[in-house]
Amino acid sequence: MPKTTQRKKKCAICGETSSQPYVRLPQRHGSPDLDTRPPADVRFTIDTWVQTCPSCGYCFLDIAKRAPEAESTIRSEAYLKQLESQEFSKLANHFLCWSAIEENAGNFSGSGWACIHAAWICDDAADFKKLYGNVSGSKMGDRDEGAAASLCRLKAIRLLKTAREEGQGFGAQPGAEEALMADLLRRISRFGSAATMVQCGLDLNPTGVIDTVLHYEKELAARGDTDVHTISEAIKWKAEQTGPPEERGKQTTSEAE
Ligand SMILES: [Zn+2]
Repeated sequence: MPKTTQRKKKCAICGETSSQPYVRLPQRHGSPDLDTRPPADVRFTIDTWVQTCPSCGYCFLDIAKRAPEAESTIRSEAYLKQLESQEFSKLANHFLCWSAIEENAGNFSGSGWACIHAAWICDDAADFKKLYGNVSGSKMGDRDEGAAASLCRLKAIRLLKTAREEGQGFGAQPGAEEALMADLLRRISRFGSAATMVQCGLDLNPTGVIDTVLHYEKELAARGDTDVHTISEAIKWKAEQTGPPEERGKQTTSEAE
């Protein structure tokens, strides 16, 4: 595990100085998930991806930087409620507050991504619970982490839809945004909407891994699968579908007969 260090940061909102966690991101080993969630060695540094001012509750990528409208956002009832919400873990709350800061600043794409990160925290807590139960002193309590993850994904879908309407792209290649949206929809059992989103992505003539992921999402949605899957699983699945070139040739001949 990479070593986390502390850095002093002066809050751009209230002016208080606090120690914030910092880590040099390790190299990735293994495949990311279909929603780009990185493998464990990178993912477990997620507590350093958001900073929170202990004095005023400002949550941002870098609290020394002021986001537009941040002062009014952090004083709003909705923000204060989110910061202390019992429905989510403390860290998930920090990401959801960061999302609110981005949303009110008009950055819907960044806001949506902050919700996706919050969902990953809930996913890992749910897996931890599944593996070890409610470990005493872990503060896991009886919170339904699966339900919390679904709420984060629902919020991410809404925000990313707005991002698209506002012309704020969040995918680098044609079909990438649709692949991400399809995964978010499938993970919360919206299989019909996920299939429609896949088709929108395929209509953009995606290439390479994006094309593979879209077809895999279509298959998973048809199966009613809500589980997490990796990009390498998608690539393996595609290879199994097509088979070696000579096998494909035979199949075509037999189909013709
Ligand atoms: Zn502050």
